[in-house]
Amino acid sequence: TTPKKVCVVGSGNWGSAIARIVGLNVERNSKFHPTVAMWVFEELVNGRKLTEIINAEHENIKYLPGHKLPDNVVAVADLSEAVSHADVLLFVIPHQFIHKVCDTMQGKIKPDAFGMSFIKGVDESPSGLKLISAVIRDKLGISVSVLMGANIANEVAEGKFCETTIGCKDKDQGTLLKELMQTDHFRVTVVEEAEVVEICGALKNIVAVGAGFCDGLGFATFLESCGIADLITTCYGGRNRRVADAFARTGRSLEELEKEMMNGQKLQGPATAAEVHVLLEQKALLDQFPLFNAVYEICFEGRPVTDFISCVQNHPAHL
Ligand code: NAD
Ligand code: 13P
Ligand code: CA
Repeated sequence: TTPKKVCVVGSGNWGSAIARIVGLNVERNSKFHPTVAMWVFEELVNGRKLTEIINAEHENIKYLPGHKLPDNVVAVADLSEAVSHADVLLFVIPHQFIHKVCDTMQGKIKPDAFGMSFIKGVDESPSGLKLISAVIRDKLGISVSVLMGANIANEVAEGKFCETTIGCKDKDQGTLLKELMQTDHFRVTVVEEAEVVEICGALKNIVAVGAGFCDGLGFATFLESCGIADLITTCYGGRNRRVADAFARTGRSLEELEKEMMNGQKLQGPATAAEVHVLLEQKALLDQFPLFNAVYEICFEGRPVTDFISCVQNHPAHL
């Protein structure tokens, strides 16, 4: 099979970091064509065209300064030209520009090309919210996977270790995209639930803005160890999590599992759910806290653990 040509649609902070990875990977993988086109939204930087700077100095001095791009990454100002030979289209632009970019690409791409979106955001229209991958899919008629993760462009470019997630419904395509993206320091997991991957990536940015507000206002307590850090830690490594996991898997009682797994140590979560439940009931607030209520009912009222997701789906805000 002929090597696949890759185009990075975008050249901002993340776009440039991605182009760096992709440029290095295609050079040593015969499944890919050895040059990568990178579409650059042209602008003047210090009186020079950014594309010219990138192609001469192999550095995006405005959006990813201090990191060289491999020589085989070629900056192209004309979007239609950049995408015209591509078999794999990597979309890495701020989500505000996706409609315009796709409109320009219409009729210019290879019919059997496929895409992957690195774009965190959603699209809003009178008919409702739409994933950015769906905007691309609908406008260009290609399949679109996603890549989202706990990744800061400058850190990735520095070669700091991190992991990321590809959401791809097609196994073979997922394997190929992983080969294109993975490095020793940028480790890729592929999952099938692409929509979930994408919505996580989009919504976390709202939380990040709230976190910044808190810090800026001096309300930093949630960002101390006792706050978000503890929540994340406990959900990964804590005893409550571990016993609850066994409960869901085995169907045995919590008391029995606590005794067997904890050797005298005591879980705090179920009891706290019961204590909080009393208060929520008194204040007629139970329906506002479906997660707390579901945990309580599953722990103490024999509600099947398999109901857990449906309990949470019934939040009044969703109805
Ligand atoms: P960026 O924030 O650096 O945005 C600047 C880019 O937008 C530049 O390339 C600029 O030329 C381009 N631009 C400006 N005006 C434009 C226009 N009218 N039309 C088209 N392009 C225009 O971009 P980024 O960091 O590469 O982010 C792209 C996506 O990747 C975002 O959805 C972001 O959430 C996501 N992401 C970013 C990071 C990160 O650390 N930067 C990490 C993960 C995901
Ligand atoms: P910012 O766009 O807020 O820098 O976040 C980058 C990112 O998506 C980290 O996962
Ligand atoms: Ca190659």
